[in-house]
Amino acid sequence: MGTSDRNGLNSAATIEEPASAGERRAAVGNGAAPALRFGDAWDYAPAPETTKVTIEKQYELFINGAFVKPSGAGGGEHFDTINPANETVLSNIAQAGEKDVDKAVKAARAAFPKWAGLPGKERGKYLYRIARRIQERARELAIIETMDGGKPIKESRDVDIPLVAQHFFYHAGWADKLKYAFPNRDPKPLGVCGQIIPWNFPLLMTAWKIAPALACGNTVVLKPAETTSLTALRLAEIIAECDLPPGVVNIVTGDGRTGAALAGHPDLNKLAFTGSTEVGKKLAAIAAPSGLRLTLELGGKSANIIFDDASIDQAVEGIVSAIYFNQGHVCCAGSRLLVQEGIAATVIQKLENRLASLRVGDPMDKNTDVGAINSKEQLKRIREYCRVGVEEGAELREPCRSVLPNKGYYFKPAFFTGVQQSHRIAREEIFGPLLAVMTFRTPEEAIMKANNTPYGLAAGVWTDKGSKIFELAGRLKAGVVWCNTYNQFDAASPFGGYKESGFGREGGLQGLRAYVQG
Ligand code: NDP
Repeated sequence: MGTSDRNGLNSAATIEEPASAGERRAAVGNGAAPALRFGDAWDYAPAPETTKVTIEKQYELFINGAFVKPSGAGGGEHFDTINPANETVLSNIAQAGEKDVDKAVKAARAAFPKWAGLPGKERGKYLYRIARRIQERARELAIIETMDGGKPIKESRDVDIPLVAQHFFYHAGWADKLKYAFPNRDPKPLGVCGQIIPWNFPLLMTAWKIAPALACGNTVVLKPAETTSLTALRLAEIIAECDLPPGVVNIVTGDGRTGAALAGHPDLNKLAFTGSTEVGKKLAAIAAPSGLRLTLELGGKSANIIFDDASIDQAVEGIVSAIYFNQGHVCCAGSRLLVQEGIAATVIQKLENRLASLRVGDPMDKNTDVGAINSKEQLKRIREYCRVGVEEGAELREPCRSVLPNKGYYFKPAFFTGVQQSHRIAREEIFGPLLAVMTFRTPEEAIMKANNTPYGLAAGVWTDKGSKIFELAGRLKAGVVWCNTYNQFDAASPFGGYKESGFGREGGLQGLRAYVQG
């Protein structure tokens, strides 16, 4: 191998000679040129995001427009929030107890009449102001999101934060047009909304919850996930900067106990939850007796279906974005790949080649494709599914060649072939960069296999036949069906599931419905 410089074209290239005289003769006979080998000279140079952001040593609860210590002896409990990319402690976050949650709900209740009574145009102005401030502080928000959650900076910078701003802009536009959204009705806000969100898209889920609620005149108490509270707390600062009346938005951090205290509070008018189906079922049981309005956005095991008439290279990119985007921590991830039998070998080969080139590592590097797994527990869970899959008889393929950092929670994107529908890896939500590949022969079989799941969140269809797309989109039991693409989101487009993936929609006109009565 030649020596390599950073741009090394000539210095790094070597010519690989055929090993034997026979091979030499064959190469000359074929007219094949000797292969050029560049070693690692064409690898990406490190491109770390170097902008410095300030993270306080300790964060408190955001209640009634101010940061307040949690109740309890000595200023209440706090817990560490960790950077999963290097396992360092970023900050200490307040653990809200029942008393704190009660205080937050009371603040939201007190703020409600005035906020609900504001003309829609005035509420819209606040939302526009928040959206613009998010844009102004976008870089800082993206960096914190990546440090706290482990997702690649290029995703938080180019996907999460722009969508966060878009959600506030979009709902600002609706605030004074609710009568047009619901013609012949008199849409009124519900009151105080309890909102509980997960760790996979921390600020985006915050925006999905808060923006429509405020646009419709409600007040909110939001609980972020324990491992990723920092950007929601940054948004609290932005909200204060924008002079939103105190109590309209309250943020109570903490673990599942805080979520349970919020969900069980008797003075809520609505509860909105995104997270696991297991917790979603518990919340449904809490809400049922009191008739509390509830929307649930839960797990998924979405099918990504590739027909033999699809553009294969485009479909392979679609497979990668469907399951490896955000380390596979995506509720609608295309975690079951259904490939038509005749092209299965080609697709698998191309997928192996593509995975070999994915860059896994430091999420703060702008070239990183797959960042850190959100927590030690989640990494353990993904590894356990690897073991289970092999034990069940599937073949684990791990073509990714990245060298992982010594510290932090990392997992190289991989996939299983030889998967049966009854395997746990084909039925259960793994929430990691691990794909189950299965095959089908006819469209009928593809539909049957895709629908053979308790979930119903999303699906992908890859074909060049429009008629096939319409037929499948109508028969797949999934809230969202993407055609010749995957993981596209827009504030104007409703998102939500069927069956054990939950009910209710977020985004679009349909998403507003969950926040109005009348
Ligand atoms: P959870 O459903 O436990 O967490 C979601 C949110 O609910 C978090 O804010 C959590 O707090 C809170 N919570 C936990 N327990 C309760 C409770 N009893 N009452 C009210 N709120 C509660 O998801 P996990 O983070 O534990 O992830 C587990 C699995 O769930 C993942 O591996 C994945 O399969 C799935 N999941 C699905 C998501 C989706 O978008 N569909 C998102 C996240 C996870 P805290 O974080 O502090 O525990």
